[in-house]
Amino acid sequence: MTDEPDDFPPASLQSAGTEFALIDLPVLFGGQLCRLPVVLRLLLENVVRNMRGAERRAAVAAMFQWLEQGTSQAEIAFQPGRVLMHDTTSTPALVDIAAMRDALHEAGLDPSILNPSLPVDVSVDHSLAVEVFGRRDAPGVNMQHEIRRNQERYRFLRWASQVLRGVRVFPPGTGIMHTINLEQLATVVTTEKRDGVPWAVPDMMIGTDSHTPMINGIGVLGWGVGGLEAQTVMFGMPTMLRIPDVIGVRLTGLLKPGSLATDLALTVTQRLRAIGVSGEFVEFFGPGVSALSAGERAVVANMAPEYGATTGFFPVDPNTLDYLRSTGRSARVLELVETYIRRVGLWFDPDAVPRFTRTIEIDLGAVGMHIAGPQRPQDLLDFSKARSILEALHFPRAADARAADAWAADGNMPRFPVAIAAITSCTNTSDPSLLIAAGLVARKARRLGLKVPAWVKTSLGPGSPAAAGYLERAGLTEDLSAVGFDIVGYGCTTCIGNSGPLPPVIRDAMAAGAIRPVAALSGNRNFPGRVHPDLDLGFLMSPPLVVAFALAGNAEIDLSRDPVQVAPDGRPVHLEDLWPTREEVATHLAMASDASEFQSAFRIASENPLWHALQAPRTPLFPWNPASTALRRPPFASVTEGSLLGRYSAYPLLVLGDDITTDHISPASGIPADSLVADFLVARGEDRNDLNVFASRRGNWEVMLRAAFHNKTLDNKLKAGMPVAHTLHVPSAQVQPIWEVAQRYRDAGESVVLVAGERYGTGSSRDWAAKGQRLLGIRAVLASSFERIHRSNLIGMGILPLQLPQGCGPTALNLVPGDRIEVDAEPQAVSPRCSIPVRVVRANGDVSSFHAVAGVETQLEADLLRDGGVIPSILKRTIAARDPAAHVDPS
Ligand code: SF4
Repeated sequence: MTDEPDDFPPASLQSAGTEFALIDLPVLFGGQLCRLPVVLRLLLENVVRNMRGAERRAAVAAMFQWLEQGTSQAEIAFQPGRVLMHDTTSTPALVDIAAMRDALHEAGLDPSILNPSLPVDVSVDHSLAVEVFGRRDAPGVNMQHEIRRNQERYRFLRWASQVLRGVRVFPPGTGIMHTINLEQLATVVTTEKRDGVPWAVPDMMIGTDSHTPMINGIGVLGWGVGGLEAQTVMFGMPTMLRIPDVIGVRLTGLLKPGSLATDLALTVTQRLRAIGVSGEFVEFFGPGVSALSAGERAVVANMAPEYGATTGFFPVDPNTLDYLRSTGRSARVLELVETYIRRVGLWFDPDAVPRFTRTIEIDLGAVGMHIAGPQRPQDLLDFSKARSILEALHFPRAADARAADAWAADGNMPRFPVAIAAITSCTNTSDPSLLIAAGLVARKARRLGLKVPAWVKTSLGPGSPAAAGYLERAGLTEDLSAVGFDIVGYGCTTCIGNSGPLPPVIRDAMAAGAIRPVAALSGNRNFPGRVHPDLDLGFLMSPPLVVAFALAGNAEIDLSRDPVQVAPDGRPVHLEDLWPTREEVATHLAMASDASEFQSAFRIASENPLWHALQAPRTPLFPWNPASTALRRPPFASVTEGSLLGRYSAYPLLVLGDDITTDHISPASGIPADSLVADFLVARGEDRNDLNVFASRRGNWEVMLRAAFHNKTLDNKLKAGMPVAHTLHVPSAQVQPIWEVAQRYRDAGESVVLVAGERYGTGSSRDWAAKGQRLLGIRAVLASSFERIHRSNLIGMGILPLQLPQGCGPTALNLVPGDRIEVDAEPQAVSPRCSIPVRVVRANGDVSSFHAVAGVETQLEADLLRDGGVIPSILKRTIAARDPAAHVDPS
């Protein structure tokens, strides 16, 4: 605040004996401030604090002009205060930094000049697999497997935390990143020094994970970005965004008995998807907000990507302070949060009705008990409807029907068995009341003598190591264990696809074609193959319902009428016999509460001896091992990488349909032992039966190139019936692995593009989905629509997203082998949302043309495309900052 102190002068605030400078929004902007949604007030604070001069005045004016229409095309620069990553998104980002350090060294510069300029926290949570379950020692055994499999990558993470300034790594066992964020990292109001003066500022952050908005549940503004966008922020560039449209969700009433936060989250998902939310900010308001605990709000906020939103924001109120207190935050922190948030006009008022772009209303009292699925989180169902939805599915019979019938007659497994029952995911394991409710169902089942059928793989993977303590104090550990729900560890486990091997009896039945197994999980996603590569059906539900489905063992059940199980005494036991009352949950929660445990359990877990025993180098340059199958220097971290823009004629490498997820584009789950990727790794000395998951190989570009589009449910419309991860090389009419076809085109000097339908890149924030496409040489993706983070990741890798005009999707285009696509995207012509001429030149000589819209939202994105993506851009800026005379020619 040195250049023009008169425009927006800072004020001061006393809290806990310290005087802080701050941006006092009500003083600066008066009564019109409260007309803005709270998320926009937070962005306004960020703009006033960080932007300067005429740009700042214009941005502030634009934010208030937003009030007129509830929308704006104006851009603002957002500068978050910290970055959160997990081990699989951080590994490629940190590998890029290590490779950029190599590039600087080769350019004659000191590599240690390259460090993140913001705090970067990394949680090692995504690689824990459920190898063993249903036993007390499962956490230790599973962690040993995890560290053995990932030790090279984990040594690299330790190198990064030792050598790169500002990078902290939380070891395996400390919990899931979003739970760590809620319980440990978030300050809600943070302090920093500017020109030696202490400032109080809102805690604002970004995370390289789409569920980062979970932190919105306690009033911290943050959202998920791709790893590449995070790299731009890490290196001092702001993230540019259009002033967002904000959807207000007015909550009224109270959740009725039986309904839980999970049911509300699934309802919100269905309601917001139904109105076509796509990238907007969502903010909750109205009297119903006050009826939700901060833990319940975090469950709802977590599913923002599932409802298509960037945020799912709940402002700060007394319930937020209760949460901070219950997780061990100090009185000093609480005082600063309350004093600051009230002072700057961010405190929640249940009667306030700010201006929103659109609003919807949800009566909490009308939210029933729900499940969602079996293949998309927005497909909301009453909990009793699993049977009717499964009955309607095509049930594949074995080629040898007699063998299948013989198998089925031999056992009593239902045709849609619950193969996986997982209390998993940050979504529903961070709020203690949900785990307590699951424990109470387990207790009642245990007392009635119920057992989980042998074909069900059960697991409990809490988001926080504090869970073990509060479940123990509530007296529920033994009950959960009695029905198979022993804790398997503290990490993402089944939610990210690390569900481990299926029970042998399920594998045998699948091989006989006698069953179609189903997952029952408390996660947030159920896309085919997400939870396990062999499972294409999954229902999302609350933790207590997971226990009930596990006990039933049969997904084709109507839990409103059918008994969950028949007890040993012959009595049919129904869900209502097991379901806890709200009072029972509250009583056990009070019994279990211990605020100090959240900090102490985290501290003890951080001392993980297996982690600290890993030796890591401390050299400024990372010593790559040429024989490594985990870490390879990527070719795109180079000063010679150039722009992919231009005017060209291209072959479509792949033609895909709607809802292509990032799991389709770059899988995260287990590497199939019979795949081409497995062959590649086995040829380099790996054990075919212990190849780990794709996500663990993201430090090795050669593996990830071969993994691109490795998904057996992917339908490549270029030619029917191709093997997994294959496509057609048009000139030779040969079907080959996709990466080999891409290489052939590259060798011949040919360009390639990809064509897809609606919502291309839906799902998680993985930047490898974009990096894989860059390595395949894809210059542009032409799709009917793009999911927000993937669009941004494509730009981060220099690939032009082009939105096809309405009525011009892949079905209408009807591309056949030999058709070519001409794109006219010269660098100087590419600007935000510009029109790009496209011609389709048919193999039969016919030509048609249309204009696609560049999926470029800001000028910064257009500049990144001209630079060739984020990494070349960071290198150019770093070199230019050290040596202004240096000219780096990307050509
Ligand atoms: S949503 Fe699942 S994979 Fe993502 S951070 Fe949470 S637990 Fe992990």
